Amino acid sequence: MENPVNFHIRVIGHQWAVDLLKQQAATGRVPQALLLAGPLSVGKSTVARFLAQYLNCQANERPCGGCVSCRKVVSGNHPDIRIWDHDDEAIKIDQVRELQRELALSPYEGKYRVVLLCNFERATPSAANALLKTLEEPNPQVVLILTATDPGALLATIVSRCQVLTLRPIPTQEVRAALQVHWQASPAEAELLAQLASGRLCWAVRALASENILERREQFLQDLLTLLGMNRVDRLAYAYELSRDPGLVKEILRSWLTIWRDLLLLQSGSQTTVLNLDWQETLQNLANQSNIGQTQEMVVRLRTALTNLEHNVNPRLNLETVLLRMPTVQ
Ligand SMILES: [Zn+2]
Repeated sequence: MENPVNFHIRVIGHQWAVDLLKQQAATGRVPQALLLAGPLSVGKSTVARFLAQYLNCQANERPCGGCVSCRKVVSGNHPDIRIWDHDDEAIKIDQVRELQRELALSPYEGKYRVVLLCNFERATPSAANALLKTLEEPNPQVVLILTATDPGALLATIVSRCQVLTLRPIPTQEVRAALQVHWQASPAEAELLAQLASGRLCWAVRALASENILERREQFLQDLLTLLGMNRVDRLAYAYELSRDPGLVKEILRSWLTIWRDLLLLQSGSQTTVLNLDWQETLQNLANQSNIGQTQEMVVRLRTALTNLEHNVNPRLNLETVLLRMPTVQ
């Protein structure tokens, strides 16, 4: 999410968190363990990377966005900063131990070693327990940052040792403005992506950079329309095909959830704008052909399926459950 021209990590919409962290650093109270909580792609790791840049910047006015350290943070090759951010791979005990060996050393060239472990609720239990040791005996030149969408899924003993900051979704108009001003989106792109993002700017930025995300979204809607007219056998065949790619299952379920939520809005006569603005007409047709009770059930089912996926329930089984309960609309 950085602007490559001036090497600043750009944080948008979480100014209170940035101000708090700067103030703590200025008064010598840098948190040794920080837990950034909040929805997926809301900007947690951006705030973390900002702090890493701020703490290690060599200029008086921090972060300067120009010194060697600031540049290295942005390009991802600062030797004192370690980031674990894999969508589908949980951190394991061996990797935690390796980090611990590094953390025992003084920073190579910066003022602080910063370790960022994203989505720590996915860590294996043994990895989480191993990390506790680091939290119990903190090295003053180390800042450990965890992110989690659901802090309730972390060990209570970990949470209690962290300063917890909870980031909220950013207002839609702020996402829209940021996309136009900082990421050169056209007004139409910014409008649509800001609606779809539900306050998760990082999602919108990724979607803007990857044409595929919007193409796939179009395909997911088409698939849904087709599936509504299909029988059980064809629906199961679809689930089988798709479930070979678990990442795709998650993406498609999220996309369908926005559609069923929109249908719920339309069927309940709500004046709120639908998320999928560009499909309003198709959605209205669909809303006229199904009933609100079925729609409510689908919203619940899709939410459950997404939660199940987070807890490693078989993607195919999950998808089948959703598809078999989906109403038939011709
Ligand atoms: Zn700097």
